[in-house]
Amino acid sequence: MTKPDVDVAIIGAGFGGLGAAIKLLQTGRNSFVVFERAEEVGGTWRENTYPGCACDVASHLYSFSFAPNPRWSRKFSPQSEILTYLKNCVEQYGLQKYIRYNTDIIRTEFLEDRALWQLTDRAGNVLTARVVVGATGPLNRPSVPKLKGADLFRGTMFHSANWDHTVDLAGKRVAVIGTGASAIQIVPEIAKIVRQLSVFQRTAPYVAPRLNQNYSPFWQGVYQRFPAVQKTHRSVLYWLNEFFGLSFLGNDTIHKLGTAKTRKHLEAAISDPELRRKITPDYKMGCKRVLVSDDYYPALTRPNVELVTDRIAELSATGIITSDGTERPVDVVIFSTGFVAADIISDLHITGLNGRNLFGEWFKTGPEAYMGMTASGFPNLVFLVGPNTGLGHNSIIHMIESQVTYLLDYLRLLDKAGEGAYLDVKPDVQRAYNDGIQEQLKGTVWASGCASWYISETGRNTTIWPALTVTYRKLTRRVKPEAYAVKKVVDRETVNEAIG
Ligand code: NAP
Repeated sequence: MTKPDVDVAIIGAGFGGLGAAIKLLQTGRNSFVVFERAEEVGGTWRENTYPGCACDVASHLYSFSFAPNPRWSRKFSPQSEILTYLKNCVEQYGLQKYIRYNTDIIRTEFLEDRALWQLTDRAGNVLTARVVVGATGPLNRPSVPKLKGADLFRGTMFHSANWDHTVDLAGKRVAVIGTGASAIQIVPEIAKIVRQLSVFQRTAPYVAPRLNQNYSPFWQGVYQRFPAVQKTHRSVLYWLNEFFGLSFLGNDTIHKLGTAKTRKHLEAAISDPELRRKITPDYKMGCKRVLVSDDYYPALTRPNVELVTDRIAELSATGIITSDGTERPVDVVIFSTGFVAADIISDLHITGLNGRNLFGEWFKTGPEAYMGMTASGFPNLVFLVGPNTGLGHNSIIHMIESQVTYLLDYLRLLDKAGEGAYLDVKPDVQRAYNDGIQEQLKGTVWASGCASWYISETGRNTTIWPALTVTYRKLTRRVKPEAYAVKKVVDRETVNEAIG
């Protein structure tokens, strides 16, 4: 039996990949590599550098529980601070030597007769691993609408995730297309400097108060000296989110409270009845991600800002023409139109047992996995933030930590099965699990009828975890051995194994 080059190959050095790497080290596993296609870590927090970029989940919760940072400057810290936090984790846990930067894995193939994965990068280098951890994240493929006339437009265009910092927006006529999580952070920032800002809204978002606050040096000192206080703060943030999360899962009373809060927020900021009408959502709160901002609504009332709700018909050489025939001259178009998330499309090709192509299958059927982590026919492959593990109400880092716990137990099980073993989730187990997820989604706000990026081309919601995160944590504490077929390669022949 040939030994793999490494035990575990992690693809992606964002929160997921780094969290897994830290925990591998902490549990005495040092045979792993982290492949990162860019020249630094950070994932989405490296890529998104637009003005105002910050996390809309509180920083004390949007960070690893095992790597608390007492020095967060604000309740919702900016992108640069989150990126620094991740870089500090790399230093603090000695991860640098495990990360292979500028290495874009484009192919990973399961070699059944050797029970290992062969990974190939864009430069043609090959490495073998017993287990692959897919931690590429769901939000890394910017979605740019194909607008008629885009090739004629003579101004500048870019997506919010690829912000062009060489373009000076001061004094320019700018269009922001989209009013999602990124746009509502961008608009207040650039409205201060541009000459004219046209915000093109297709669907009005729900916006809740953000109430951002600075952590004073005093409190930072308290968190530093008394970790238990910081831990309690984190717990309070967590349980409040879980509580309000109930509103998305069918609790009408909390839902009504939340809806009233967002409405009050809107009405306090906007007095113009016409603008109020335009920005009042016409679907159930939570069906699309609820946004948090204190400065988005006020920005819309600035004299240099216009909220446009007429559909975009086309671009001309000098501006944007809406369906009513109006042309607005613009110098810069910023697409804040989100990401392709629900239909995992990737340059990465994953080939499993019998030549099966994972993303090809997912593209047809909609992505699905057991626990959002393992897919039948693709053994020894574990996804982080995979299908139906995204959240609308709490910190994704909590989900990642649950998944890493599961990964560690999965590795323990694999060790127990011995050299040459692989674990393949049983198809009927995966089916039953996903039928359960879809059934559970029926009673939630995400099934209330709006169009959102949570829904895949197949019409199924393939992104959202339809329950509280405590439930997911409980489910992922241990791997159920009976959910997996355990196989072993002996002398290049595959045999069934049983482990308890
Ligand atoms: P998004 O929330 O999906 O918003 C995209 C916006 O673009 C929506 O308003 C959408 O309108 C609009 N749009 C899309 N295609 C369009 C078209 N052809 N014409 C006109 N409008 C169009 O995207 P995002 O703002 O980039 O955020 C994506 C996700 O990233 C978020 O949901 C969140 O999970 C994450 N994010 C998180 C943070 C954070 O602080 N944690 C910050 C930014 C982003 P419709 O609503 O009508 O589709």
